[in-house]
Amino acid sequence: MPPERKPRVAVFKFASCDGCQLSVLDCEDELLAIAGAVDIADFREASKAVLEGPYDLSLVEGSVTTEHDAARIKEIRAQSKFLMTIGACATSGGIQALRNFGNVEEYRKVVYARPEYISTLATSTAIADHIPVDFELRGCPISKFQLLEAIASFLQGRAPNIPNESVCNECKRRGNICVLVAHGTPCLGPVTQAGCGAICPSFVRGCYGCFGPQVTPNTVSLISELKTLGMAPPAVQRLFRTFNANAPAFRAASESVAAEEART
Ligand code: SF4
Ligand code: SF4
Repeated sequence: MPPERKPRVAVFKFASCDGCQLSVLDCEDELLAIAGAVDIADFREASKAVLEGPYDLSLVEGSVTTEHDAARIKEIRAQSKFLMTIGACATSGGIQALRNFGNVEEYRKVVYARPEYISTLATSTAIADHIPVDFELRGCPISKFQLLEAIASFLQGRAPNIPNESVCNECKRRGNICVLVAHGTPCLGPVTQAGCGAICPSFVRGCYGCFGPQVTPNTVSLISELKTLGMAPPAVQRLFRTFNANAPAFRAASESVAAEEART
């Protein structure tokens, strides 16, 4: 009997800092087990060797910021049975989506000596805005534990066990004293998806939402609380405009603060 074919896995990069691909490499010991269970067909951050598609699992890092990106992601989708996006860039557009609130033409002229050589879209958007995505793994960067769970679930043919509750729940489980209530520190933990283990509040810092909005974020209530703490509207707006500025719930929150500010 011929040996069973291993699933072919590919890792692709779009507009991003490579941090999520480094999180894949950061799995170190576990990578050996993964590498034994799959064929790494295309992972340019790790190897020059490339096997042609189709692929059983494609991991996609980064956002769509050029016409070329928009065409390439469609080709990758056509080559991939299961496609998982990894990180804030791929799942919401990333920090580079701040351009969505400004004028790209202006930036192009100010930043580049020869702007005519720069070909770019006016927006940075999530991969799911362009193609159907089978699973989104959040974080900036992603958690290696969640990545291992997502890959294991794919290999075992089951749904990944990735919680969509808020960072607050992780704080409670760690026994953290709430930085928002006890110290008055601005914190997006109540509206941010868990997964990091509440790293920032554990070091007495507010969460700035790098895992993006949780499943039912009550941003209206949090904005009211932040203002009660004395935060000025522009500061509240900036809090929602970081790595997941273009995630619909965070985008709506920052725009509602901006609109209210414009009315007063
Ligand atoms: S999500 Fe964060 S760590 Fe990952 S590629 Fe984007 S900027 Fe880098
Ligand atoms: S506490 Fe918030 S900002 Fe800090 S790592 Fe976790 S999700 Fe990201």
